[in-house]
Amino acid sequence: MSDAQGVRTLAARELELIRTEFAFPLRERIVTNNAASTQPPLALFALLRDVSETYENVHRGQSDASIRTTEMFEASFDTIATWINAPSRRTLSMHRSTTEAINSVMYSLMADFRDGDNVVTTLMEHNSNYVPWHALCREILPRFGRSVQCRLARFDHETGELDLAHLASLVDERTKLVCCTGGSNFLGTKPPLDAVRAIASASGYRRPDGTRGSLLLVDAAQRFASSRVDVEALDADFLAFSFHKLLAPFGVGILYAKESLRESMPPFLYGGDMIAEGQVYPDRVEYNELPWKFSAGTPNILGVIASAQALRLLVDLVGADPGRAWFRTDDALAPEAVDEAMSTVAAHAGFLTQRAMEGLSAIDGLHVYGPPLGAERTPLVAFNVRGHSPFDIARALNAQGVESRAGCHCATLAHHELGIEPAASCRVSFTVYNTREDVDLAVAAVRRAVASPEAFRQAPPADVLRDPAPLA
Ligand code: PLP
Repeated sequence: MSDAQGVRTLAARELELIRTEFAFPLRERIVTNNAASTQPPLALFALLRDVSETYENVHRGQSDASIRTTEMFEASFDTIATWINAPSRRTLSMHRSTTEAINSVMYSLMADFRDGDNVVTTLMEHNSNYVPWHALCREILPRFGRSVQCRLARFDHETGELDLAHLASLVDERTKLVCCTGGSNFLGTKPPLDAVRAIASASGYRRPDGTRGSLLLVDAAQRFASSRVDVEALDADFLAFSFHKLLAPFGVGILYAKESLRESMPPFLYGGDMIAEGQVYPDRVEYNELPWKFSAGTPNILGVIASAQALRLLVDLVGADPGRAWFRTDDALAPEAVDEAMSTVAAHAGFLTQRAMEGLSAIDGLHVYGPPLGAERTPLVAFNVRGHSPFDIARALNAQGVESRAGCHCATLAHHELGIEPAASCRVSFTVYNTREDVDLAVAAVRRAVASPEAFRQAPPADVLRDPAPLA
C-alpha cells in the first residue's frame, strides 16, 4: 500500500505480522512509551544466543571465534554508517548512550575553547544536550580560568517552533558550537536543521584550522528513531543517537563526527585498542587509525552487533521486498532500502500521532504541547489536563494497561519556560509496531482517567507481568 505521496504504508495484515516478532503483544501490553525506549524483537535475542557460540573479544585474538566476532563487529559500523549516510565507518564512535556521545564531544573539545567563546543551544533540548554545556561553562572551564558562555535560544510557546531569529541573534563570531535537537522529546518539534546549519556556518567563528564558522552538533535521539537521518544532507559536524529507541536492546549510542574532526580531535577515552599496535613508549603514544582511535577498552561488542542487526531486521520487517533478507547478513545495506524503511516508519508513526492528537485534543481541559494538528512532529504527544496531575493520569493509564510516561522527560528547561508547575506532563509516543487500536485505547484511557480519577486511585496496575497468553 502507498499513501498520496507514494510512501509505502503498512496494511493491517503486515502490522499484525510485524507484531508477531515481539513479546509484548502476548502480554497484552499497550506500549505507548516508545520515545523513551522501544521494544526489542525476539529475533535479536535469538541472534545473540547464536553469536554467543563464537563469543570472543574483538581485535584481541587469532582464533576463528575472535576473527568472526571482529568481522561482525566491524561490519556493524558499516551498517550504521550506511543507515545515516555517513561516508564511512571512520566517522563513528560507539558509546553507551546519546548522553555519553554528547559528553564525549564536550570532553574532546574542552581544551579548544578560548576565553570569551560561547556555546549556543536551545530551551527545548533534552538535558543531555544542555547540562554538559552548562557544566562546561559554569563548572569546568572556570577552573582553568576561562570564561565561556552558554546561551539558550527560545521557542514559540504556542507552536513549539524554534525561534530562528533569536537563535541567529545569539550566534556570533565567538560561537564555537551550536547544539540543537533534531526532534524535541517533549514538544515534538523538528527544528529546521538546514536553517540552523546556515546560522552556524555564517557565524564567522575562527576555527583552529583557519576556516570560519561554528560547529553544529545535532541531538538526533528522537529524529533517528522516527525518520531517515542523512548526515551528509544535514552537514552536521556531530550527530548523536541511541539504538534503544529503534528496536535494539539498551546500551549503545553513536556519535557521528566529520572525518576531519575525528582526525584532529583528541580521543575521549584513553587506553587499550585506541593506540597503534606497538606504538606506546615512555615519551610518546601513537593513536590507532579511525574509527578505533575513539574505541578505548573492550567495547559493547554484542550490543553493537545487535544494534546494527536491529536496523537490518527493521528493513526486513517493513521493506517492500519480502524476497530480500538483510537480517543476519553482513551484506552492504542498500541506501534505498533504508530510505524506504524509514519513510514507512515515519508515515506510520506520523499517522498514529495525528490520530492521537485529534483524540486527545477533544478531551475537555486537555492541552497538547508543541506543533498543532497537521504539522510535522516527532511521533509523540505530551499533554496536561487542567486540574489533573500528569502522574495520576499516567498511573490511571497503567491501571488500564496503557504504558505512558509522566514527568519532565528530561526536557526540564522547556517545562520551566512554559511555566508548567510542577515541571511535568504526560506523554504517549508511537513507533512501527503500534496500531490505531493502541491509539484509540490510549485516548479512551485518558478520557476515563479524567472523567473518574477516583476509580483509578486505588486500582492495582494491569498485571502485564503474569504468564503471557499462549501463542495461538
Ligand atoms: N536526547 C533526546 C532528544 C532524547 O529523547 C533522549 C532520550 O530520551 C536523549 C537525548 C538521551 O538518550 P540516552 O538516554 O540514550 O542517553
